[in-house]
Amino acid sequence: MNALNLVIHAEAVTVILIIALLSLKFKLLSRSGVLASIPIGYVIYVFGGVEYFILLLVFYLTSGIATKFRVKQVGKDVMDKDWIRSWRNVVANGATAAAISLLSIMEFNRGPVTAAYLGAVGTAFADTLATEVGLLYPREPRLITNMRRVMRGTPGAVSPYGYIGGVAALLILSLFSAVTRIASLKIIIAMIISGTLGMTIDSVLGATIQSKYKCTVCGRLTESRVHCGRVAERAKGISFIDTHAVNLISTQSEL
Ligand SMILES: [Zn+2]
Repeated sequence: MNALNLVIHAEAVTVILIIALLSLKFKLLSRSGVLASIPIGYVIYVFGGVEYFILLLVFYLTSGIATKFRVKQVGKDVMDKDWIRSWRNVVANGATAAAISLLSIMEFNRGPVTAAYLGAVGTAFADTLATEVGLLYPREPRLITNMRRVMRGTPGAVSPYGYIGGVAALLILSLFSAVTRIASLKIIIAMIISGTLGMTIDSVLGATIQSKYKCTVCGRLTESRVHCGRVAERAKGISFIDTHAVNLISTQSEL
């Protein structure tokens, strides 16, 4: 078994520490985000295997580059500092993938485990890239439930750019799944379909049950508790269901 092989542990520690240091240097994540990513990456590397880890890395690096590009084009988003790069984001996006990797200790048929893993990583990746590419959309997005134009950053807002970003993420992941020969064509196609559905579920949950706050300065409806440097008022949704809980629900709906 992979996890009993000491070489795998040494390899995992080396690779993950190098990535963690580079992440700090290039500010891909906050310090708490880097700390949270170490155990998640380790579990995936040791139990899921190097192919699982490569897919996670593709998600992580593509998202990091997309964020840098978007910040260059349209500037920072209010969520960047407190949310996007923190440990909460890492845990919400990586916990399900790590838990699924643990399942592969049971060495019977790997197919269903890989399908679940691709589903979880695919949804998280699609959701992240949809947000990044969506922020480049020059017009106001529309709310997925009633198609009314809403302010940027409103939970549940969708745009054609967002969908292009999400589908691009799924295609990139498909490409690497094929190259690493981790999954059959059937599983890859299922991942593209379920990822697109997962992304849509994420937006519907965002528009409905996710907790929202109204900024006391600019009046925007937002998913962050702090906006324009002030604590925002609670507005709608269920208080304990934040954007990360929604991500967690929609990655788990893949199972
Ligand atoms: Zn504001």
